[in-house]
Amino acid sequence: MDSLNGIQLRRRWLWLYGVLAVLIVFVAAIKVMQAVAGTQPLQSIGRGVEFLLDDSQALGIDEVLQSSNLQWQTEQSQQLSFGMRSAPLWLKLQLPQLDARDQWLLEVDYALLDELEVWFFQGQRLLSDYVTGDTLPFRSRDISTEKFLFPVPDSSEPITLIIRAKTSGSLKLPLNLWNAGQYLVYAGEHNLLMGCFFGVLAAMALSNFFFFVTTRYSNFLVYCGYVVFLSLTLLTLHGIGYKYLWPEDIWLQGRSVVLFANATMGFAIIFTRELLQVRKYGQWLDRGLLVCAALYLAGLLLGLFLPYWLMIKVFLLVLMVSVVYICGLALWLSGKGIEIARIYALAWFTLLISALVAGLENLDLIDLNIGSHYLLMVGALIESILLALVLAINYNQQREATFAAQSLALEQAKQSREMQEKAQEELEYSVQERTLELEIALRELSEKNRELEERNTQDALTSIRNRRYFDKKYIAEIRCSRREQTQFSVAMLDIDHFKSINDQYGHLVGDECIRMVAKLIADHLRRPADDVCRYGGEEFALLLPNTDADGAWQLLEQIRQTMQDTPVHTPAGAIHLTISGGFASNIVSMDGDEMALLSQADQALYQAKQAGRNQIRSYSQESSHV
Ligand code: GH3
Ligand code: MG
Ligand code: MG
Repeated sequence: MDSLNGIQLRRRWLWLYGVLAVLIVFVAAIKVMQAVAGTQPLQSIGRGVEFLLDDSQALGIDEVLQSSNLQWQTEQSQQLSFGMRSAPLWLKLQLPQLDARDQWLLEVDYALLDELEVWFFQGQRLLSDYVTGDTLPFRSRDISTEKFLFPVPDSSEPITLIIRAKTSGSLKLPLNLWNAGQYLVYAGEHNLLMGCFFGVLAAMALSNFFFFVTTRYSNFLVYCGYVVFLSLTLLTLHGIGYKYLWPEDIWLQGRSVVLFANATMGFAIIFTRELLQVRKYGQWLDRGLLVCAALYLAGLLLGLFLPYWLMIKVFLLVLMVSVVYICGLALWLSGKGIEIARIYALAWFTLLISALVAGLENLDLIDLNIGSHYLLMVGALIESILLALVLAINYNQQREATFAAQSLALEQAKQSREMQEKAQEELEYSVQERTLELEIALRELSEKNRELEERNTQDALTSIRNRRYFDKKYIAEIRCSRREQTQFSVAMLDIDHFKSINDQYGHLVGDECIRMVAKLIADHLRRPADDVCRYGGEEFALLLPNTDADGAWQLLEQIRQTMQDTPVHTPAGAIHLTISGGFASNIVSMDGDEMALLSQADQALYQAKQAGRNQIRSYSQESSHV
């Protein structure tokens, strides 16, 4: 939003600069033109002049002077303009009485005359004569000014002036009679004005050329070409080109207007096409412009060979059609709301209106008190400035569009990167979550496994270890004793006459008794390594690592003693129980039978039973301990 405001603000400033520039140029131009227009010739010669168009092209000065049957006509308008005539034009007039103290000059204010001959007569006496025109090299001129200038000879008598002019373009002879001092002032002002016009145009061409060099935006170059050739065309029209640029080149002077004007319009058409992007609005509109450009190119090339009078007519025809076409196009695009098309249309209408006003002034229909060719130059100048403004705005718009596209792409890239990062983060998080869940599940599973394992090795009735556990643990302890050469004792305990307990009190009470005996035995085990297991029925097996025969005997005897002294409390009352035990102790030998120690303990138990029960027997011992 901020950048949009910034763009609008910049555009408004650009508009303001453009309008300011046009205003300054306009006001300055009007001021200077008024100043120049204030310096007037003594007389502009026009109305009342006798003229003769020599279609036979055979007349010489003698015939003109002597022949009485020539069809002289009298000019009715102030402008001596005869259109496109290839026939020589003869003019005859009486100069007014001039102050002999001053020097006087006759000016022909039209630079493109091919042949121009001037005779000053006093009665029948020739005072001076001149032959000039741009079919002669520039240096042949008596007074080397860009327009034709002739000194009026001193004479006390009235002077008759005879002029013969011939040209292949439009035949005009604006004649002015100047006081030499006054002309000096006028020439200074006129040259200043010309210098300003062409200076501004040169500056525009140069600056736009540098814009092209720095930006590589081709339309700056096209515009530069347009301004250069427009300047050359105007320089030719004012005779400045011939004076300064190609004074020896009669061939170029004869064709320069056609060549330069065609090039100018060619560049203008390409410029229009690029600037308004006509292609976007219709292929046929674009083709129209291409056809115009091709016609101008053809005009330029043919202008090198074909006669000037023909090519200038072709050019003017194409010019009329194409100017109407591009003005219509610009208006149509303006109607569509395209900002630059409006200024573009304004630029061309400025030129057209100035041409129109100059034309009207030329035809004596209006009088603005400013020279008509100056007006046309101001029109061209303002047009060029407006076109440069349009170009600047257009370039700015394109740059902004590029900038906007770039920042959009950047923003999109940033967004997609952020989205990617977010997705990555979410993925990592969910992987972590899953891993954690998996770890928990695994831990729970292993706990369950351990519980299951525990339960598998536990006796359901007594909650001490069962036979399965005993079998594994027994082998492990045997191997440990063998490896570490430590004493290992195994004992078997059996409740005496248990069958009768069952018979007398029932199995439930019997179970209770087994449970209590198991608890009693377990309570006697102090060392963490000692284990008691229910071997089966009412038999218990004890594993006593690092325990020798004495130690085993003491522990078992304690158990037996406690059993004997402690009645078991059951729902059926206190029951006295005794147990018998047998044990075997040894350091297991390397090559011995792993099951031997257990078997010996079992044998010892058997001996204890045999010996009368309620006693402990060691395998190695023959006598029983009571
Ligand atoms: P003695 O060992 O002194 O020679 O005589 P005894 O009566 O104990 O003989 P024996 O070892 O042959 O009999 C064991 C009896 O223990 C058999 C069975 O009725 C009983 N018994 C075995 N297992 C259980 C049990 O889990 N619960 C109960 N209530 N009785 C059992
Ligand atoms: Mg038994
Ligand atoms: Mg028994």
